Amino acid sequence: MLRFAVAGTPHSTPGSGGTIAGLKRTAELGLNAMEIEWVQRVPDNTEHIEQIGKLAYDLGITLTVHAPYYVNLNSREDDKLLASKKRILHALTMAEIMGAISVCVHAAFYLGHDAKDVFEQVRKATSSILKHKSKYFPTVNLAYETMGKPTQFGTLEEVLRISKEFDMYPCIDPAHLHARSNGALNSTKEWEEMFDTYADSLGKSALQHMHLHFSGIAYGPKGEKHHLPLQKSDAKWKDFIAVLHKKNIGGICVCESPLMEDDTLRMQKQYNHF
Ligand SMILES: [Zn+2]
Repeated sequence: MLRFAVAGTPHSTPGSGGTIAGLKRTAELGLNAMEIEWVQRVPDNTEHIEQIGKLAYDLGITLTVHAPYYVNLNSREDDKLLASKKRILHALTMAEIMGAISVCVHAAFYLGHDAKDVFEQVRKATSSILKHKSKYFPTVNLAYETMGKPTQFGTLEEVLRISKEFDMYPCIDPAHLHARSNGALNSTKEWEEMFDTYADSLGKSALQHMHLHFSGIAYGPKGEKHHLPLQKSDAKWKDFIAVLHKKNIGGICVCESPLMEDDTLRMQKQYNHF
């Protein structure tokens, strides 16, 4: 089963917003998934987190989390590296309490270092984060995301390789890969190959519980500029939806369009045509 998720509290949430009201609105809209955006900071209030988790469960809404942006597992400064690992661990711990299934993370910047060398740094940091898995986040997946700029760690190959090594699954963002390559990965054939590569690496059954992001995107030679509404971008999004259907992809597809729920519903509606 594939669920289409809104990326945060829907725009049309009445009142002053907030995650609780956002979940209720999400259910009203006919959506059954939400990515919780802890991109600036991870909350500390475990009671509130439990409340959010319970409501989502009662409403039949599956949750994923986006971890803070301020992370670089390739930092060569000890205090910054430690702070990055702590932020990820905190997000995973709170996600476990909330009942979320997967936490996506922008793992690292190359900072001019060799990609091989950066991979080693990310591997070391991942190993140290996962030492806490059984105690703090036994069921939550750590999902490294495919990234939109060539200066960022996160090619499809990199996130697959590290995920396979640590028995995790990545967050695949085809819009980021489209931007990173300055225009490739925007066709049925390329998306099918992408899912085949994924299955070759993590196994065919891994296609049943994916963590996906999708949106329109503006880009140039330096990769991603910013996200765009589906219909104001060059994304062949209807073709992408057809591939999701044909490949029988399951899990969560988070729509990261600036139009929020409007585009999430657009994707869901298109998917349900099949
Ligand atoms: Zn992201």
